[in-house]
Amino acid sequence: MRNLPPGQKMTQTTPVLIVGGGPVGLALAVELGWRNVPCLLVEQGDGEVVDAKMFATGIRTVEFCRRWGIAEKVKHWGFPEDFPFDNVFVTSLAGHEIGRIPMPALKDIPPFPTSPEGFAHCPQFVFDPILAATARTLPSVTLRYRCQLVSFRDTGDHVVGELLDHTTGKREQMRAQYLVGCDGIGSMVRKQLGIQMRGIELINHSFNIMFRSKDLWSGHGKGKAGRYVIVGPEGAWASLTPADGKDLWRLMVHGEPDTDPDSVDAAAEVRRAIGDGRPFEIVKFGHWIRRRVVADHYQRGRVLLAGDAVHVTPPNGGLGMNTGIGDAVDLGWKLAALHEGWGGRWLIDSYEPERRPVGIRQCDEAMLNFQRYGSRKPVPHVTDETPQGAQVRTDLGKRLSTANSQAWENPLNTHLGYRYEGSPIVVPDGPLPPEPEDSRQYTQTSHPGCRAPHVWLPDGRSTLDLFGRGFTLLTFPGAPAPDAMVAAARDRRVPLTVIGLDIPDIAVLYERKLVLVRPDGHVAWRGDELPADAGALMDRVRGAVEPHAAMHPAGVETVGVQAKSA
Ligand SMILES: Cc1cc2nc3c(=O)[nH]c(=O)nc-3n(C[C@H](O)[C@H](O)[C@H](O)COP(=O)(O)OP(=O)(O)OC[C@H]3O[C@@H](n4cnc5c(N)ncnc54)[C@H](O)[C@@H]3O)c2cc1C
Repeated sequence: MRNLPPGQKMTQTTPVLIVGGGPVGLALAVELGWRNVPCLLVEQGDGEVVDAKMFATGIRTVEFCRRWGIAEKVKHWGFPEDFPFDNVFVTSLAGHEIGRIPMPALKDIPPFPTSPEGFAHCPQFVFDPILAATARTLPSVTLRYRCQLVSFRDTGDHVVGELLDHTTGKREQMRAQYLVGCDGIGSMVRKQLGIQMRGIELINHSFNIMFRSKDLWSGHGKGKAGRYVIVGPEGAWASLTPADGKDLWRLMVHGEPDTDPDSVDAAAEVRRAIGDGRPFEIVKFGHWIRRRVVADHYQRGRVLLAGDAVHVTPPNGGLGMNTGIGDAVDLGWKLAALHEGWGGRWLIDSYEPERRPVGIRQCDEAMLNFQRYGSRKPVPHVTDETPQGAQVRTDLGKRLSTANSQAWENPLNTHLGYRYEGSPIVVPDGPLPPEPEDSRQYTQTSHPGCRAPHVWLPDGRSTLDLFGRGFTLLTFPGAPAPDAMVAAARDRRVPLTVIGLDIPDIAVLYERKLVLVRPDGHVAWRGDELPADAGALMDRVRGAVEPHAAMHPAGVETVGVQAKSA
């Protein structure tokens, strides 16, 4: 970029200006770059991940990483594959074991029948750099660090952002078709739009203490674990997680709503958690606030919001970033469709009705997880060396293990089972099957709005590998020739690939002879017959039908879709 004299402004252009280079902004840049959509990401920091927040990379996120070609890096970044992931409830590492939820080591996790991927343990200080490195390889993506968005205005026709480059001290203007605020909980973009966050702003003060200690799993009889939950008479007060499976650990301490962060003695907390006086070295201490908040809106005009800018969950269950990555993928194909000219006038308006309910769902699930955890719920006598103390520990161990297994034993439905029910660009065909009570139970379905099912194909690919670049029409034995749909897509320049799958098992799982899958892998429409008006269907799923008309039953009928319950 050319340097301008001090004070002089230059207006440059980009189709998409992404504000914030946390995992959500980076994921959006990668998704857009994968689609060859030019975008500029500005991050006010230097890209160094200063706090190890996220560890739990959800199965849907890993599926997206598979699409971007980085799943292997995210799964196998150096954490020992034979390190067991048990969740162990203890009074301290050297104290009593209260309960245990056994979990296999990475190398022993059996494949899930419903996904080509699995859950990964990839801390943010590894995950974000993988995303950033991937974004740098994509020719249409530009990353600018130490560059802050200071203000913006939406003209209706485009957005103009004012950027401050902290390296040069210069200000400049950037004109974009869309601006996406991925700028975290303090989001200036959301604040400038006047959009409120609602919910519980302060559940408690919490603290992350990163420390090093050698062989911390030895000498206390509990062995290696993916998480030790430390329980005292005040309830579960901390959890200890291996960061690198070697000597780096994170102790997460749960305070109270009125805990003074300055009163926390990090070394004393680590000593108490370990319990046997062995040496350790504190690497970092960080304070954060546990909240459950969702924004009233995810969009205003040409400005969109994603990630922590619009939803902040308690980290219980590891849903915050994973939900934000889902936002990025939903936005990615819509912004690409608009950039390429085949997206309809109302396509971008489908983002909020699709993703805000998911934000609320995941926040509710995280709150449930937090309650299951029993944080700071007093347990008198739990550390007593008496028969009464032993009984309290036995009862508590059973209760905590049962209550928390839903959140920690592969909650597939939480990560894969969200649906875009009520979306204006999805054509419903009857009521969706109810969600299971147990978040570990996930049933695949081709119901419109749901993630299209995974099945292995004879050539070793997953059905999920068929989706992504455009729409995909899967046809199964007995399906009518889809010529009318192909012609309707061609007339509208909608990228559509037709794939015939003459495989009975897959046909059964997909439930209909024709299933139209969106670029993000969610089902847009399905039927046994062609729609009466293929053009109207294409217009609906590409957002060219005004949402009120689309949601009105008459709008569905104009598509001529045969309504059949699953
Ligand atoms: C202790 C803890 C554990 C967690 N564990 C998990 C987990 O296991 N799994 C999970 O899914 N989630 C977890 N989370 C949540 C997860 O860390 C967040 O949801 C995630 O970091 C949000 O990503 P983001 O990109 O939306 O925002 P952020 O990570 O906050 O990034 C926002 C970025 O925007 C930049 N920015 C802000 N304003 C501007 C501006 N004006 N101009 C330019 N740049 C700007 C900031 O510098 C920042 O880098 C955890 C959170 C905590 C606190």
